[in-house]
Parts: sequence; structure tokens; C-alpha cells
Amino acid sequence: MTAPPQLYDPAARRETPLLPHLKARINAEGPLSIAAYMTDCLQHPEHGYYRNRAAIGAQGDFITAPEISQIFGELIGLWCAVVWQQMGSPQSLHLVELGPGRGTQLADALRATRRVPGFHAALHLTLIESSKVLAAQQQAALSKFGLQIRWQSELPLHGDPTTPTIVLANEFLDALPVAQHQRTNTGDLALRQVGLDTTGNLIFIPGESADAEIITSADTTGVTASLLAPIKNAVALFIDYGHTETGNRDTLQAVRDHKPEHPLTSPGEADLTNHVDFAAFIAQVTKTTSFIPERVVTQAEFLGSLGIVERAQRLIAANPSEANLIETSASRLIAPQSMGTRFKAVGLRSPHLPSLPGFENITRGRS
Ligand code: SAH
Repeated sequence: MTAPPQLYDPAARRETPLLPHLKARINAEGPLSIAAYMTDCLQHPEHGYYRNRAAIGAQGDFITAPEISQIFGELIGLWCAVVWQQMGSPQSLHLVELGPGRGTQLADALRATRRVPGFHAALHLTLIESSKVLAAQQQAALSKFGLQIRWQSELPLHGDPTTPTIVLANEFLDALPVAQHQRTNTGDLALRQVGLDTTGNLIFIPGESADAEIITSADTTGVTASLLAPIKNAVALFIDYGHTETGNRDTLQAVRDHKPEHPLTSPGEADLTNHVDFAAFIAQVTKTTSFIPERVVTQAEFLGSLGIVERAQRLIAANPSEANLIETSASRLIAPQSMGTRFKAVGLRSPHLPSLPGFENITRGRS
């Protein structure tokens, strides 16, 4: 899900069902902030991208790690079981997933941990999902495990904040609304907005140019201050694509049918995401919560340390006729030219808990 910023091609503009709503709103309220535009495009109750569409997977608009290889979810599941044991194998564990998509990661995680004594019996699952279509797919994927599952459509987490908790989020931070500021000719920073040109078409304000300096900042307070801050005996794992150094780039992007698009072309019908600024996210975590961040590692380092190669070899030994598929999909997750280095893993833990698996070798090696 990464692509260079797209320049606006007015001829490619599509009349989507959301477009009249956006125009009416801009006519009534004036130009929208990028965050308001993104929120309408993704979450509008009738025409929002995530509300209605089955967006993820080969048939959808984009594909994610758990949809590429079952090994991804299996390793995440085993990671959770080890973390639960490090917490002292509590009888009750709140396992929370933010934006579980089609439920594939959790289904693979649960299947891989079925034989870990006591683990499934301890689990209380909460899925935070804004899309009804996806929540229904999650239910279908997970009902066979016979576990109790609660759904919430919004942050923060409901429930007892003292229960031991693990929070998982794959490709969730990139969907959070962002604010953008653009350097103008006079050197000032102007809030970037979405308005209408004289013929009533959507445009960015101030105008677009390929080399404009644009500062993008995601609003992560829903995750940090609302969700994480109250929970005190917890671990969280965020995996997403992004950069570890804050830069002044336009990192907002649209993808439809596996192809990049300009963000104003198909409002409500393209996925709008942002490269995660991990430095800014971690700074926000440290400022507003008591969580200790582990060193940021690449997805290749994280999955490598959890044993992706060995697991792929075992899977191939058990299913020799699928050797090719197993090998190509596992290597897509870790190859540098694919997802291996663009995607990063961020581990957070309450201060009294030990270092998290998947991060500790790197920390020792580099410090
Ligand atoms: N984790 C899944 C899906 C990633 S796509 C995977 O890796 O395949 C992003 C997910 O977050 C979708 O399930 C989407 O519906 C959900 N989502 C996006 N914004 C959300 C929000 N504000 N609140 C709750 N869920 C949200």
C-alpha cells in the first residue's frame, strides 16, 4: 500500500455517491480540513469506504500481511501466547484487535495457539471495527473457535482497565485521519484543506505543486490518550508501513483496485491512508501513557526473530505440493523489495513487564 504522491488529473475524476454530500458540506461550512475529508471518505455512515465495502483481499482494493500468508497470523498468535506467559499466565486475558479486517489474522492466531495449555480458556476477545461488512466477516471467520467475542465500533476500550491486556493492530494507524500543513510562497504554513473550484470541483487549498513542502500529522490521540493510557497491565503491537524519521512530505495516498490514485479522484470509493510517522506516534505514546516502547524493528526483523523461516519450512514439509506458494508468500512478508523493510513493528509494554519477544535481540545487538 505505498505509492508516490499522485498529481491531480481532473479528467479521471469520478462522480461517486459521496461526492454530492461533500460538495453540499463545503458549500454550507466552507473548505474541509484533510482530517474531515478523510473521515467522511472512510467513515461516512452511508457512503464511507469502510462502512460498505469488502475492501481487503485479492478481490478488494488492497491486500494485507495476514491475507498474504497464514504464517503471519500464526506467528502473531504464538507471540501473544508467549507474552501471556511472561505476564504470569493470568486466568483472564483481554485480547483486543483494532481494525481486524476479515478476521484472518485472529483466526490464524487462534488456530496456532489451540494447544497452548490454558491460553484459549483465558481469552476475552474485543474487536474494534467501524465497518459492519467487515465485522460480519470477522464473526464468520472466528465463530468456529467457540470463544466469546465483543465488538465495538469505536475507541476507547470498554471494560476493566486492570485486566491483563494485549492490543494488536495491523495496518490500523495508517487509516487514522491526518492534518496537513503546506508551506506557502510567503514562507508561512497554511492548513491544507479541500474546497471547490469555480466550476464546483474538489480541489486542494492552497493549490497543488509537485515540490510543495507538506507536513502531515496523524491524530493518534484516540489510540494513545483514550485507549492505551488507562490500561496499566498491558502490551501492544502495532505493525504498519511508514518511516521512523519525521519528514516534510505529502504521505497521504489513495488506492483503488490495487492501483494508486489521487486522493480527490474517487471520494468514498478509494482507500485513503497515510504512511505512519513512527517517531511522532512513539513521542505521543511516551507523552500521554506510561507504556515503554521497544526499539522499532522492521517487519522482516520481527518475523525473522519469531521464526518465519523455520515455520515456512515446516509448513512446506507438511504440504509439499504447495511449497512454491508457501515460499513466495512468506518471502513477500520479509523481502526488502516487498513488505520486509517498509513495514515496521512497534512494541509497547507496561513498565513492570519484561522486554517483548521479537524486539530483544535487536535491542541488545545495537545498544
Ligand atoms: N488488520 C486487518 C485490516 C487492516 S485495514 C488486516 O491486516 O488485514 C484497516 C481496518 O481498520 C479495517 O478493518 C477498517 O474497517 C478498520 N478501521 C479503520 N478505521 C477505523 C476506526 N476509526 N475505528 C475502527 N475501525 C477502523
